[in-house]
Amino acid sequence: MKRKPASASEVFSRLKEIYPEATTELRWSNPLELLVATVLSARTTDTTVNRVTENLFEKYQSARDYARANPEELERYLRPTGFYRNKARAVQGLARAIAENHGGGVPRTMGELTALPGVGRKTANVVLGNAFGSDEGVVVDTHVRRLSNRLGLSAEHDPEKIEQDLIKIVPKENRTLFSHLLIFHGRRVCRPRKPDCPDCVLNDICPSSTVK
Ligand code: SF4
Repeated sequence: MKRKPASASEVFSRLKEIYPEATTELRWSNPLELLVATVLSARTTDTTVNRVTENLFEKYQSARDYARANPEELERYLRPTGFYRNKARAVQGLARAIAENHGGGVPRTMGELTALPGVGRKTANVVLGNAFGSDEGVVVDTHVRRLSNRLGLSAEHDPEKIEQDLIKIVPKENRTLFSHLLIFHGRRVCRPRKPDCPDCVLNDICPSSTVK
């Protein structure tokens, strides 16, 4: 018989125990840097983004710097992250909007952030939760999506619908950390192919566990 869905609070406390250091693996030192790094992280690894941003953040330090950047030069910096033309356009577009409509400062609300060109709920949640300490929603990336399905926390596939399911079962103050924990676990144990169920601390409560 298939097990019932895992309890979100049990998942949270067990993963917190084994990943006390769970946080974003992107390197940033202010909200603009986190916003740019998050945009660049689409379809690449955090390690690649961190390598690129080491030089990028020295060259471009304000929204106005990105807005005024030579597009080809910006593309050269972003090239290793893949899809670099689109990413350069996205970064420049949101930087212009921040410079023109927000006095150069990254806005602090979901509505204002998602109104920036190319910024969706996932990116907005990363910035709100990590740079501004506001746990409004849950970041649903590919790992959170996969683990939420495997653990039975959501049967949905669309990230925004998964987020709505998670919001109902994860207390507000835990939402940012909850997604960091699922991402850590998804990278290390509950990998896309061949999840390591025998060594997983959730294997007695996970409905997808291969351990009987
Ligand atoms: S590794 Fe296995 S037991 Fe652990 S969460 Fe993933 S599917 Fe469930």
